[in-house]
Amino acid sequence: MTFYDLNFIQKTFIHYAKENTRSDPNNSDQIPSSPNQIKMAKELTKQLKEIGLDAYFNDKSCFAIGHLTSNVSDKVTPIGFFSHMDTADFNAVNIQPHVHKNYDGGRVALDKEAGIFLDPKEFPALKSCQGETLITSDGHTLLGVDDKAGIVGILGMLKYLVAHPKVEHGDIYVGFGPDEEIGYGGKRFDPKDFPNVELAYTLENGRPGDFEYETFNATLAKIHIHGTVVHPGEAYGLMVNATTLMNKFLDQMPADEVPEKSKGHDGYYMVVNSSSCVDHADIDIIIRDFDWDKYLAKEQFIKDLVAKLNKKYGADRFKLTLRREYENIYNVIKDHPYVVNLALDAYKKAGIKPNVKTFRGGTDGNFITQKGIPTPNLFNGGGNYHGRYEYVTVEQIDKLSKVLTTICKEHLYQTRHGRDNTPLKKYW
Ligand SMILES: [Zn+2]
Repeated sequence: MTFYDLNFIQKTFIHYAKENTRSDPNNSDQIPSSPNQIKMAKELTKQLKEIGLDAYFNDKSCFAIGHLTSNVSDKVTPIGFFSHMDTADFNAVNIQPHVHKNYDGGRVALDKEAGIFLDPKEFPALKSCQGETLITSDGHTLLGVDDKAGIVGILGMLKYLVAHPKVEHGDIYVGFGPDEEIGYGGKRFDPKDFPNVELAYTLENGRPGDFEYETFNATLAKIHIHGTVVHPGEAYGLMVNATTLMNKFLDQMPADEVPEKSKGHDGYYMVVNSSSCVDHADIDIIIRDFDWDKYLAKEQFIKDLVAKLNKKYGADRFKLTLRREYENIYNVIKDHPYVVNLALDAYKKAGIKPNVKTFRGGTDGNFITQKGIPTPNLFNGGGNYHGRYEYVTVEQIDKLSKVLTTICKEHLYQTRHGRDNTPLKKYW
């Protein structure tokens, strides 16, 4: 049994998937970073109006905003949903979605001649898509499941609610934003577009049932090292080679606290960039941790290492700048357990088994939560995000529409019958 009109979901997903809305990290001071995102935001605004919402395009933030008015007389606090229009940093020119009806669970040829296959031996999660309508790319671009599946899931919910006026709900706000992949969408969201919204959800990736109310705390550490250049023939006792100093620094970084040795609730350091010559060197390190104290300890470790090496090699050879990027949403959400319980209660009512885990990254929700709207993360279905092997099924997006609708219904139900404020348990 499906929930909504699968034809609408398939058609709408393919339509938006074909639009090249790749964001541009080198153009992040422009809003949006790539012009096609304006086109898509305007199109979405139009579609929201056609469905029956009050909608507008905010040209300062490049968000398409929609408001579905409450159809009950109860006082229900408004609820919000976000998904982003831009796609990851991967080829998005001439996206050709392929539809595989009643997928047989086997190997899928994306481009037979070029030898590009999507193989469940390599990607076992594909097996769960058997019998469904699978959508893939042609193997040369990404598909844009992240987060066009989220957008279509929201549209599916809205269409359903408008078509079923007897299904009661409070005010619902939706926001389709730009530039999430480059870390600017949520940052530029204007909370005035979501008046009185008390809680919201992002729809970043994940399988049906996944749920995250923890993201990393994130810092970028930039270390600049300066050496002393002397002609090598006369360098004895004088030259200080910045490359040597850089290697000393990197040698003392914890070898086991790196992404390739971290999972679950572990944090890490990752050297994302290093470059050097005799005169100077630069190291960029990202610091990630869920736990606030461990996160601060990681920042402190870098500060201490810089101080130690400065002591050994002379003051100010190493210069450190720490830039805080975003904060774990849990720091706020822990005081708003309803936001979490509501979603998990709705999953159960929608017949979907919740799978609570950590989001090993950041979302628009990091910034939106900081702006006063606690925003944990649901899912959008699909898999293999950000590359040529991306896929999603129409049925998974349908499930998402069902979950979103159930959250709206459950929010009204708990407004009437008492909120589930059970304190959050540590699940890790
Ligand atoms: Zn995303």
